[in-house]
Amino acid sequence: MPLFDKFASMAAAYDRLESIKSNPFNVAFDRVLSPTEAQIGNRHILLLGTNNYLGLTYDPAVIAKAVEAIETFGTGTTGSRIANGSYDGHGRLERELADFYGRKHAMVFSTGYQANAGIISTLAGKNDHLLLDADCHASIYDGSRLGQAQVTRFRHNDPDDLANRLRRLADTPGDKIIVVEGIYSMLGDAAPLREFAQVKREWGAYLIVDEAHSLGVLGETGRGLAEADDVEADVDFIVGTFSKSLGGVGGFCVSDMDGFDILRVVSRPYMFTASLPPGVIAAASEALHQLRTRPGLRHRLIENARRFYDGLSALGFTVGPEPSPVVSAVMPDPETAFAFWTQLLQAGLYTNVSLPPATPKGLALLRSSVSAAHTFDQIDHALGLFAEVGRALDIILPAPVRKAV
Ligand code: PMP
Repeated sequence: MPLFDKFASMAAAYDRLESIKSNPFNVAFDRVLSPTEAQIGNRHILLLGTNNYLGLTYDPAVIAKAVEAIETFGTGTTGSRIANGSYDGHGRLERELADFYGRKHAMVFSTGYQANAGIISTLAGKNDHLLLDADCHASIYDGSRLGQAQVTRFRHNDPDDLANRLRRLADTPGDKIIVVEGIYSMLGDAAPLREFAQVKREWGAYLIVDEAHSLGVLGETGRGLAEADDVEADVDFIVGTFSKSLGGVGGFCVSDMDGFDILRVVSRPYMFTASLPPGVIAAASEALHQLRTRPGLRHRLIENARRFYDGLSALGFTVGPEPSPVVSAVMPDPETAFAFWTQLLQAGLYTNVSLPPATPKGLALLRSSVSAAHTFDQIDHALGLFAEVGRALDIILPAPVRKAV
């Protein structure tokens, strides 16, 4: 059988999108002008689908540190830290992350995907059990496949289901390791982390929280959901990424557990890949400094998120269960999601289409992510475009006709 035949139905769907020049999975920006604006051809685009939560991608201090590091240390490390050595920025960033989280240990990976893969595949050994929230990110599921532990899924955000599954495993040997996320990337809902922490304590399990979408977003100092819910002491490992609120690329894990550093010589996604380039490390370090010293960014982000979420709800869209910087509008089917996305882009607004298997419950979503860098005018403009397209596609009701008295 020809090698690519197994992708035939996917290829046909993809070709269809290409042929009508409406492919949300293949967008190229000709220029990016700021955290919230770009250009495709001559068209000016308002960016509302970038995960650039704090808008730090063009921060002058972050750029200056990155440039300085490139000029001093070159463009890349050309190898893994165990084989080819660390540069001074790697260790410094790890100490800064440990300090930020108030933990003893921190380890930097080359992406958030690899942080999850590296931690999950290694911590959970052959006789151990991973209990994963059903809606966890692909990197968490892929990490569990890379390892040899038994994998159990529990119902999304359901501590009772988790407790039932731990009860069934009570007499089975091996460690039990629970993995949940802070804010979920598709619908923007947060985990009931206090309840999960209680279940974890009750059953003597370990708890990993992926704060990819909640770092810099939640908590008094921006540490994420564990901080916001005051359960940091119950979270054994926090995983995160530099690719969202920190505006760069890379991933990390922090922990207080003794022996943590052995992961550097047993975690394959850490060992067998090149370490982050000096410029990327320096940018992440400065962005973390900005996150810590400019709480106003987080407050502005929350204000913007609420304005957009409330605005879409008021228009009659079905949105996720709570306001967050990830705001998704539920579409009746993938075709409508593509049509909606295309019309928005033609009108100058960039969002994301999210489809199963990436989405929960088989939903077709038009996903937006809000930034601290958006102005209220930009948010209101986006809401106006959603209203127009939503009405044209019969997803929301027509605007009420106002009658003069
Ligand atoms: N975890 C979650 C919850 C994510 O949404 C993502 C990226 N979308 C990742 C991990 C992977 O992060 P990165 O893009 O830095 O590899």
